[in-house]
Amino acid sequence: MKGELELFRDLGVRDLFLDRISPGGVPALSPGSMPDLPSLAKFVAGCPRCKLSKSRTNIVFGQGNPHADLMFVGEAPGRDEDEQGLAFVGRAGQLLTKIIEAMGKKRGDVYIANCLKCRPPNNRNPEPDEVAACRPFLEEQIRLISPKVIVTLGTFAAQALLETDEPIGRMRGRWRSAHGARVMPTFHPAFLLRSPERKKDVWEDMKLVRDYLAASERKA
Ligand code: URA
Repeated sequence: MKGELELFRDLGVRDLFLDRISPGGVPALSPGSMPDLPSLAKFVAGCPRCKLSKSRTNIVFGQGNPHADLMFVGEAPGRDEDEQGLAFVGRAGQLLTKIIEAMGKKRGDVYIANCLKCRPPNNRNPEPDEVAACRPFLEEQIRLISPKVIVTLGTFAAQALLETDEPIGRMRGRWRSAHGARVMPTFHPAFLLRSPERKKDVWEDMKLVRDYLAASERKA
């Protein structure tokens, strides 16, 4: 940081807006500043803002229809996602694909992203500094996509997006609002792989989403 400050001084910079510089000494993202998703992806590329940058293989930015009405938000990339640089491509991702198809959609119709863009080592829980460093990227992604509905997958994504500590068992299946979208918290597909008897709960939640989107298309 000292080196960067000296560089600014040598360049003749006299006023520094420190809220625009994140802890690693790299520029912070100004909300609303990105014109489109490719520009945001370029901004995020090579991100050094938290310690996950040291252990990741690839940044997992997220993928899908940039104008999707429906966006899924998970927790963080796992091993397969870290290797491929794509969200939800492992076993949990395959189950997510089936859920999307059961709703009458294709993966390419929706947008899929995570709260964290880098894999926590051994899939440990994300830490508060990592969430704070990555949150502006997800928020800008949501602003640019402007989905009608966001489905949060699992406890972590629901709590992070809705800024609450309510348990997922109480949140799932109930509409919330955040970031200009309706939000439907549901269980994480990785949890469903361990507890297949809860698939019917997720299907109830997804029918609410499917029906809401169908009704809003009829109105448009
Ligand atoms: N779990 C997540 O939360 N996200 C992924 O991309 C894969 C597994």
